[in-house]
Amino acid sequence: MKIKPFPTCLAFSIIITICFAGDPEAERIYGGFYTEERIANLRNNCNKYEWARRQRDAVIENAKPWLAKSDEELWTMVPGQDLPRTIDVTFDRLNPGTEFTGCLICGEKISKYGNYPYNPDFENKPWKLTCPSCGAVFPTNDFGKYYLSAIDEHGLFNPDKGDRSLLFNADHPDPEDPLHKFGVDDGFGYIDKNGRAHRYIGYYTWQYWTYLNDGAGALADGFLYTGDKDYAHKAAILLDRIADVYPEMDWKPYADRGWYHSDGGSMLGKIGGSIWETGVAQQLADSYDKILSGTLDDPELYVFLKRQSEKYKLPGPKGSRKQLIENIDNGILRTSFEAVLSRQIRGNQGMHQLTVATCAMALNTEPQTTQWLDWLFAPDGGAIPGLMISRSDRDGTSDEGAPGYALIWGRLITDLARLLEDTTRYNRNNIFRDFPQFSTSYTVAYRMSALGIATPNIGDAGSTGLVATQANPELMARGYFYTRNPEIAVAAYRANGNSAEGLGRDIFSRDPEAQGNEIRRIGEKAGPRPEGGYLMSGFGLALLECGTGTSGIALASNYGRTKMHAHSDLLNFDLFAFGHWLAPDHGYPEMATNIPSRNEWTKSTLSHNLVYVNRQPQKAVWGGYTRLFKQIKGFGVFSIDGKKAYPETDEYSRTMFLIGGSNESRSDSNSYVVDIFRVIGGNDHVYSFHGPPGIITTSGLKPEIQKTGTYAGEQIPKGIWAKDFPVGYSHLYNVRRDQNPPGQFMVDWKAESGYRGLTEKDNIHLRMHAMTQVQDIALADGDPPQNKPGNPRKLGYLLMHRFATDLNSIFVSIFEPYRNKPFIKSVRRLDDGKGSEVAIQVEMTDGSTDYILYNEGSQKELDLANGISMNGEVGYIKEKNSIVIKGILVNGSALRYGNMNLRSAGTITGKILKMNKELAGGGWMLVDNRLPADGSLNGEQIIVETDTERDASYTIKSVERENGLTKVYCGPISFVSDFKGGTMEVRTFKVPKSYNLGYLYDFEEGARFRITSHKTWAKKVR
Ligand SMILES: [Zn+2]
Ligand SMILES: [Zn+2]
Repeated sequence: MKIKPFPTCLAFSIIITICFAGDPEAERIYGGFYTEERIANLRNNCNKYEWARRQRDAVIENAKPWLAKSDEELWTMVPGQDLPRTIDVTFDRLNPGTEFTGCLICGEKISKYGNYPYNPDFENKPWKLTCPSCGAVFPTNDFGKYYLSAIDEHGLFNPDKGDRSLLFNADHPDPEDPLHKFGVDDGFGYIDKNGRAHRYIGYYTWQYWTYLNDGAGALADGFLYTGDKDYAHKAAILLDRIADVYPEMDWKPYADRGWYHSDGGSMLGKIGGSIWETGVAQQLADSYDKILSGTLDDPELYVFLKRQSEKYKLPGPKGSRKQLIENIDNGILRTSFEAVLSRQIRGNQGMHQLTVATCAMALNTEPQTTQWLDWLFAPDGGAIPGLMISRSDRDGTSDEGAPGYALIWGRLITDLARLLEDTTRYNRNNIFRDFPQFSTSYTVAYRMSALGIATPNIGDAGSTGLVATQANPELMARGYFYTRNPEIAVAAYRANGNSAEGLGRDIFSRDPEAQGNEIRRIGEKAGPRPEGGYLMSGFGLALLECGTGTSGIALASNYGRTKMHAHSDLLNFDLFAFGHWLAPDHGYPEMATNIPSRNEWTKSTLSHNLVYVNRQPQKAVWGGYTRLFKQIKGFGVFSIDGKKAYPETDEYSRTMFLIGGSNESRSDSNSYVVDIFRVIGGNDHVYSFHGPPGIITTSGLKPEIQKTGTYAGEQIPKGIWAKDFPVGYSHLYNVRRDQNPPGQFMVDWKAESGYRGLTEKDNIHLRMHAMTQVQDIALADGDPPQNKPGNPRKLGYLLMHRFATDLNSIFVSIFEPYRNKPFIKSVRRLDDGKGSEVAIQVEMTDGSTDYILYNEGSQKELDLANGISMNGEVGYIKEKNSIVIKGILVNGSALRYGNMNLRSAGTITGKILKMNKELAGGGWMLVDNRLPADGSLNGEQIIVETDTERDASYTIKSVERENGLTKVYCGPISFVSDFKGGTMEVRTFKVPKSYNLGYLYDFEEGARFRITSHKTWAKKVR
C-alpha cells in the first residue's frame, strides 16, 4: 500500500511514523467518540422520546437519496485532484483590475445575491450553475459528457485525456455559429472578450465536494440512528474512495493561477483553502467514527471494493475490512494530521486543533491517539495553553475584533474539550479543569448582545445594520453541564426565550433530559433579563441600555481588538433603537481581501463614527482603557481612553451618556445620547458620523454642492486608492460643503423604508444636535458593501473638520432617536468652550429641562451662571417647573442647584496588596481600603492602574472581609495575561515559547485602583 511519507521537519512526526508502522491491532470495532455505550443510548432514546424519534426521522429522510444510489454510482462520484475548484467564478487574485466582472449576461446585478450567489442543483442540473438574478445557465457545454471522456486508468478526471471536440455550446452546435464557443468551460473557465475567466465548473466542484461530504455524513448518521448496516456500507464506499484521492489533493496549483478560496492568503489547502479544509477533514473523520462498527460482517462491501481495485489502478489493495480501515486511517486521518503540520489544513485558531482532536478520536488507536492529543497541548503543537492565555481574554473572546471571529475559539475549544471529556480516555490535559476562565466563553455571545437581542456589528461581522444575535443557548447549556455555574444556566434560559425547552438534550446520554430540567429550575428562579447595560472590559465593549427588548434603547461602543478581522474603529459606537441600528457599521466587507472599498473604506477609520486624526487611520491595538463606567436605571455613562490608537496625541477619549427612558410609560422610551469626544494634539481632526440610510435634512447649515469629485477633491474620482490624499476621502462622494458653519446646528436622518424591514409608516429618525465650533463641514455619501443582501445603497455622512497646530478639540453632540416627533425642544452649551469642562442644557418638549455636567480629571469646581455647581466628574440634573426633581453625581463630593444639595463621598480609591496569581481560583484581590461588604459594590467596576496592553478593569462579584483585610472577587477570571519567556513562530502564528517560566499579569501588586461611586437625589413627592 502506498503511504505518503511524513515530513521530517518536526521530530514529532517521526515518532508518529514509527508508531503506526508498528501498530499491531488494525482491526478495531468502534471509533473513539461514538462508543458502543453512546450509540446504544442514542438508539434507546430514539425509541423513548418523541423529539429523538423526530430527529431520527429527519436523519432517515436526509439519507434517502444517498441510500438509493448504487455502489458503483457512489464510487464514481468522487473526483480527484485534477478537477479544478474555487469559491468565486470571476475573482482573480493575479489581476488587480476590476474586482467583480459579475454574470456574463446580467453583469453586476448578480452581486446583490451575496458572495456565493450560485446554488447548484446536483441531482437535476449536473455541472450547471444558474444565475439567481437573470436565470442564465452556464457552462453552455455538456461538461458531464466531457468529464466521462477524461476518466483515466485511476478512475479519475484527467484533462489530458478529455475529448475536446465535446467542448461547444450545446445550443449552438454549428462551428460557424458565433456563439459556438460562448460560455464553454473545460474545467478551467470560460475566457470572456475582456480576457477574464468565468470558472463555472470550478465553483460547481467546490460545492460538489461539500455535497459529497454531506452525503457521507447523511449516510453515517443513518447508520448511527438506525443501526441498519446498508447506510454504513454506502458511507464506507464514499469514505474509502475519498481516502484514495485525499492524500494527493492540493489547492495550491489552483491558488497559483490566481483562483480564490479560503486560504487566508497562504495559497495552501487540500480540496479547498486551508481554513475551510479544517471543517472538511473534521466531517470526514466524524462520519468515519460513526460507521466503523457498521462495516463488520459485510462481505458484499469487500467484494465490491476488491472488484474496483482490479478494474482501476488504486493506491492500495482492497478486499478486507482491515484494508478498508488502513486505507481510511492513512488516507483521511493521518493525511489530515500531516496536512495540519504542513499548513494545508490551518484555520483560525481552534479550527485545526479541533480537526486533530476529531481525527485522533476517530483513529482510536494507541499510542497514536494519545500522541495527537498531547500534540494539541504542546507549545510547538496545537499550543492550546499558550493561546488560551495570551490570545484570549477574560470575557472568553479571542484576539480577533469581530464578534463572529472572536467567538470561534470558545465554540470550537468547547467542542474539543467535550470530545475528550465525554469519552474519558484522556486526562493529561483537561480544559475545563486547567483553564477555569474559559467558562466565560459560553455566555459571551449573549452578554455582548444589546438588550439580549442584537449583537453589535463590529469589524468583519454581519452586514450593515443587521439585527441578529450570535448567542447560542445550546452552547451555554453545554457549558453549564461542564461547569455547573448557575450564571451560565440563567443565561442559557434567557437566551432561549426565557425557556429551557429543548436545551441541554444529550441524545448520547442515558438520561438525556436531566440537564434541561436543571436549567429550567435555575432559569425560572432567576427570571428574565434585568434592565441595564454593562461593561465587557476583556472583549472591549461598553453597553448602556434603557428599557428592555425591542422597545428599549442601547448604546454600544467598542474598544477592543482592532487587528485581524477587526476594523480600525476603537471608540466607535452604534445606537440600537426601535429595533434597528441607527448609526450602523458597514459590517462584513465586499471581499475579505485587498481591495480599496475594504482596506481604505469599510474597514478603515473614516467610515466609522470617530474622529480621524492627522489624516491617518488609527493604529491597530489590543484595546482601550476604561476610565469610568456607570449604569443606573435611566442613566448611564462611560468614558474610555483610546489614545493608543493615535499614539501621537495626548488625549483621544470618548465619554458617552444614555439618558432617560426609565420613567416613561409610553412604548417609546425617549432616551438620548450625549457624546463628548476629546482629542488633544495633532493638527487635523475630522469628526465623522453617519445615521441610518435615508433622507438628511439640516438646520443651521448652508451646504453648497461640490459639482464633481469626492471629499478628496473635485478632481479625485470615487473609490480610487489613496495617493496624495488621506485614506478614505475618495469613498465619500456627492459632497456638499459649508465653509463657514455656526457653532451649533442640527442634522436629521430619516431612516428609509426598506432598511432592514422598515416601512414608510415607521417614520424613525435620528437627530444630531452638534455643539462644536469647527472650520468646515461637509455632507457626503459613502457606500456600504454592495454584495450583501439587505445592505442599503448608501449612507449619509457628516464630516466636521478642525485644523490648526496643536489642536485641542472637544466634539460635543447629542443624538436623539425618535419616532414621528422629536422630544427635545432645544439644546445649549452652558460652558465657555475654553476649558476641559462641558455643561449642556437640554429642554424637552414636555416642559422639563436636563443638565449634563462633565468635568473629568479636574479637581476644579464647576460653577455655572445659572447657579449650578459641581465638585466631581459627572453630574446630571432634571428640572421641571423651576424645581429640581432629580440629581445624580458620579465620582464627586457635591452637586448643588436650587432646592437640591447632593453630597457624596466621591471616588473610592486604594491599593492592591495581594492578588491571585494562578489560572485557577478566580479573580480575587486583597485591597488596603475597607470597602463596604454589604453588596453595594457588586456589579461595579474596579479599575486598576496598569501600563500593560490590557485594560485592568473588572466587574466586582462580591466584597468580603478576610483576616482584617478586604477581598474583592471578580468572578471565575484570571489576571494572567501571558506566559513569560517570549514568543516563537509556529506555522506562521506567534505563540508563547514555554509554559514553564511563569506568567505575566494584567497589573502588578501595589497598583492603585478606583471604584466609581455615585449618589442620586430625588425630590420627595408628598
Ligand atoms: Zn445573470
Ligand atoms: Zn466597522
